[in-house]
Amino acid sequence: MPVGSAREILRRLHDVMAARSPAQAKLDEVVRVIAEGLGSDVASIYLRRDGVLELRATRGLKQEAVHVTRLAVGEGLVGTIAETKAPLSLAEAREHPRFAYRPETGEERFHSFAGVPIVHREAAIGVLCVQHVRPRTYDDVEIEVLQTVAMVLAELIAAAGLVDQSAAPPRPVETGPVRLDGLRLVDGIARGVAVFHQPRLPIERRVADDVAIEHARIERALATLRAQIDQMVSRAEFAGPGDHDEILETYRMFALDEGWVRRIHTAIEGGLTAEAAIDSVAQAQRIRLEASRDPYLRERIHDLEDLSNRLIRILAGRADTAAALGLSQESILIARNLGPAELLEYDRRYLKGVALEEGSLTAHVTIIARAMGVPMLGRIRNLRERVSEGDPLILDATAGALHVRPSPALLKAFAAQKAALARREAEFRALRGLPAETRDGVRIALYVNAGLRSDLDALEATGAEGIGLFRTEFQFLVSATLPRLGRQVELYRSVLEAAGERPVVFRTVDIGGDKAVPYLGDRDGGEENPAMGWRALRLSLERRGLLAAQARALLLAAAGRELRLMFPMITEPWEFLEARAVVEEARRRLEARGRPLPQKILYGAMLEVPALADLLDELLPRIDFLSIGTNDLTQFLMAADRGNPKVAARYDWLSRGVLRYLARVVAAADQAGVPVTVCGEMGGRTLEALALAAIGVRRLSITPAAVGPVKAMLRSVTLAPIAERVAQWLDTPGCQLREALRAEAERQGARL
Ligand code: PEP
Ligand code: MG
Repeated sequence: MPVGSAREILRRLHDVMAARSPAQAKLDEVVRVIAEGLGSDVASIYLRRDGVLELRATRGLKQEAVHVTRLAVGEGLVGTIAETKAPLSLAEAREHPRFAYRPETGEERFHSFAGVPIVHREAAIGVLCVQHVRPRTYDDVEIEVLQTVAMVLAELIAAAGLVDQSAAPPRPVETGPVRLDGLRLVDGIARGVAVFHQPRLPIERRVADDVAIEHARIERALATLRAQIDQMVSRAEFAGPGDHDEILETYRMFALDEGWVRRIHTAIEGGLTAEAAIDSVAQAQRIRLEASRDPYLRERIHDLEDLSNRLIRILAGRADTAAALGLSQESILIARNLGPAELLEYDRRYLKGVALEEGSLTAHVTIIARAMGVPMLGRIRNLRERVSEGDPLILDATAGALHVRPSPALLKAFAAQKAALARREAEFRALRGLPAETRDGVRIALYVNAGLRSDLDALEATGAEGIGLFRTEFQFLVSATLPRLGRQVELYRSVLEAAGERPVVFRTVDIGGDKAVPYLGDRDGGEENPAMGWRALRLSLERRGLLAAQARALLLAAAGRELRLMFPMITEPWEFLEARAVVEEARRRLEARGRPLPQKILYGAMLEVPALADLLDELLPRIDFLSIGTNDLTQFLMAADRGNPKVAARYDWLSRGVLRYLARVVAAADQAGVPVTVCGEMGGRTLEALALAAIGVRRLSITPAAVGPVKAMLRSVTLAPIAERVAQWLDTPGCQLREALRAEAERQGARL
């Protein structure tokens, strides 16, 4: 199937569909054109009729099968393609588990099969497939040609009135209050009107009249796109190095990506308009990336779609994202997904929340929303169908709900909730300068967890004593390429400067697992259990260059002051020793070159892997501090995935098993005189923080928003009797510690 033939096929298809002949005659002609053009033994079109895929025309299969062979969506190869909206190609069709043999077609002679969905307005209205007698494989280029043909075919079928309405039934218009559930991405509550980020521009013309003109149009549009991105980069708000800058760099990279541009030109070469070519390339890319098991790659779909949509708008001469038109009232943004740069374009005064049909915790856009303090809810099914532009909304991201057209009672509850939040926040602000000290005089040092430059403001705002965990991998996650040494130094230096006299604990990168970055390679298709896989220090010790470069950056950034450094996911003490040796070697090399160095380096270990606790006698004498990462530790102790809602109830920080374990570790560290911090999310929950204090933890590093509530709680309790009780409960079989602790705290009038 030569690519050049696509254009000829498209030209002929266009003529066929434009002819004044009956629909069936047109389809018969279409399959003939496709089989001849692609040199296949069979070309068939299945179209949906009353919801079922019916063979409507074939060249190569028996004609008696036309209108007879019918497959439900999900049935057979054709039904699978319609169901998944993804192409399927097989050298030996009958080996596929879904293969459904239909004797009337006479298809037993044909071994290989390739099919693509015919998609119209995001619904699969049919399937186009080819077959060959000879077993053969189909390459990516061939599938791309089929997709291009199917895309044009979809338009022509729609124009001929052959689209089955059951493929995309008209949606009933809802007018009453509705609650939509979603995944909590960034906590918070907000109220505003629904603003659609981007009414997708309909592509009116798909088949080009003059290919040369389309090539020229796309070149002009690309030039405008690049200029727009340059402008975003230089815009004052985002000027200067930082995470936003890194993201825009990713965009620039895509916009200059020769592969992307080349594929668009190829599609134009195949007879499409510039708009249709962009759309076709984006769809093909989307399907390919969606099939990838690498979450990082899947996130890139949105960067690419962001750019594709932008390009289509440029071609249409319509700058009509809601951001470009400007928000004029408090708004909740509605989108399938957003590119991070697109989010950054909104006026923060009016942007109160974001609701997405897709979205994930590690997406760039989520990281940015968190940094902007904009609540965000993701994975809301059929969001754009169930919400209309201008609908009043309440976004309760913390509760995982979007209330559409909320009832008066809900609006009242929202106002009360908002007022209570504001009061609480004011109270927390008043505590800013006061110590986190219990009524009986036990002081707990509160530090914050950070990872982005924008998190640094939290230090001042919360009055925290320092940064107890700086997750250095965030910089790696928001970057399309390995952050260069200069960039790393610059970030670490700005963190230290913002902290001033306060200590900062840098954690070396915890990349891998669900925090994959594409540029480190070796991920061959994903891991069964990524959290327990090749990540964190395991990866760093194999990629010594990476660790050494990071060590250099940290040493240079901390010149003249103290550097606190810790390593994630240590399982055995030798890993700590090796990692430290890499840093020491980097230090010696810099020293030999006369570079200024830190006055002192403190080395810490993270305890996240349960087995390490049994080797503490060997580890403790060698480390300066210990930090317990309860997020990971708990999932390994309880064998309950920290991200899986189905086992969330088992992932219980206040179970006796977890607390006894922690108590042992804290006692061992105390005895060895090694300071210990808890830096997982556990310490940011009031009841959990109280339990930790009760078992002897005196340092917590927590999410900035938790500093106020945890401090207020600590200042409201008398710890000694609680500590005594907790010790008893830990020894009481069957004790429901969570309930018992809550009751005891409430009895004291604690602010939980
Ligand atoms: C932890 O596991 O508790 C931790 C602090 O590390 P992270 O959440 O980054 O895995
Ligand atoms: Mg961890």
